[in-house]
Amino acid sequence: MHKEKILLGTSNQGKVTEFLFYLEFFKIFQDFEIITLNSYPNMGEPEENETTFDGNASSKSSFFYNGSNLTCLSDDSGFIINGSNNFPGVKTARLAKEKGGISGAIKSIFNDFKELKEIPIIFYCSLSLKSKNKTLGVSGSIKGILISEARGENGFGYDPYFIPENHQETFAEMGSKEKMLASHRYMAFKNLSLRLI
Ligand code: IMP
Repeated sequence: MHKEKILLGTSNQGKVTEFLFYLEFFKIFQDFEIITLNSYPNMGEPEENETTFDGNASSKSSFFYNGSNLTCLSDDSGFIINGSNNFPGVKTARLAKEKGGISGAIKSIFNDFKELKEIPIIFYCSLSLKSKNKTLGVSGSIKGILISEARGENGFGYDPYFIPENHQETFAEMGSKEKMLASHRYMAFKNLSLRLI
C-alpha cells in the first residue's frame, strides 16, 4: 500500500536520531514512511533569521516542505541564560560557529559571567509541522545549569555542558534514552502528540 511520507527537516544527525525515537515513543506518524534529508542532498539549508525559536522552526519546515512537497517536521532549539536579554537564544548555534565550536562558546559565556561557577539556563525546543493543509507549532522547555568543563561522551551540541534540573549528570553522561526522556525536545514532542490526537 502507498504510504504518505513525512520528511524530517533537519540535517543534524543527533536530532534525526532523537526525532525517530519520539515518533516511535509517542506513536505519531506511525503510518507514514519516514524520509530524511539524505534523500535530498541538494536541498541546501534554510535561513534562520527570525527572532524566536517558533519563527525559525517555521522557516525551516516551510523551506523543506517547499523543496520536497512532503509533510515536514523541523525544530529550532537553543538556550537562554536566566536574567539575560534572551542570550544566546536563537543565536545559540551561531555563537558556537563564531567561537570555533561548542567548547569555545562555553568559554566565552563563562568569561562573560566570571562570577558564576554554574550558569542557570532554560533550554527550548520549538517544533513546526508543515503540510499541504496545516502548519502546526508547539514548543517545550526545561530548566538546568551550564557547567564550564565538559562531562560525558554521548549526545551532541551542548550536551556535555548541560545538567537538567533534578539531575546530577550532564545529558552527555546519561544514556541516550534517559536524555531523550528528560529533554526540552521530549516536552515539545509530547505537546505535538497531544495536538495530533
Ligand atoms: P539549531 O536548532 O539546529 O539551530 O541548534 C541550536 C544550537 O543548540 C546548536 O548549537 C545545537 O547543537 C544546540 N542544541 C540543540 N538541541 C540540543 C540538545 O538537545 N542538546 C545539546 N545541544 C543542543
